[in-house]
Amino acid sequence: MKKKLLLFAGILIVALTLFAITKSTIFIESKLCVGCGDCVAVCPVDAIRIIDRKAIIDAAACIDCEICIRSCTYDAIRKNK
Ligand code: SF4
Ligand code: SF4
Repeated sequence: MKKKLLLFAGILIVALTLFAITKSTIFIESKLCVGCGDCVAVCPVDAIRIIDRKAIIDAAACIDCEICIRSCTYDAIRKNK
């Protein structure tokens, strides 16, 4: 019984991890980003950081709301279709 529970817990953890890694389809076109921080200011879940003057999205935190796409006047935020 205990082995089955451990196996189930393991499968659940792997599934949740894969979901977190793959769920976000939002990405930064790095060469277009000027590091202005406008996207950081509007993200409702604080999923964007500026590192070395480039925006980086935390895919695990992103909820795909697309607000940041509309905030970027440099057209540097894209969504995979
Ligand atoms: S709003 Fe656009 S240009 Fe500004 S930091 Fe975000 S991705 Fe970069
Ligand atoms: S899509 Fe929404 S949650 Fe994801 S990084 Fe942009 S503003 Fe944040």
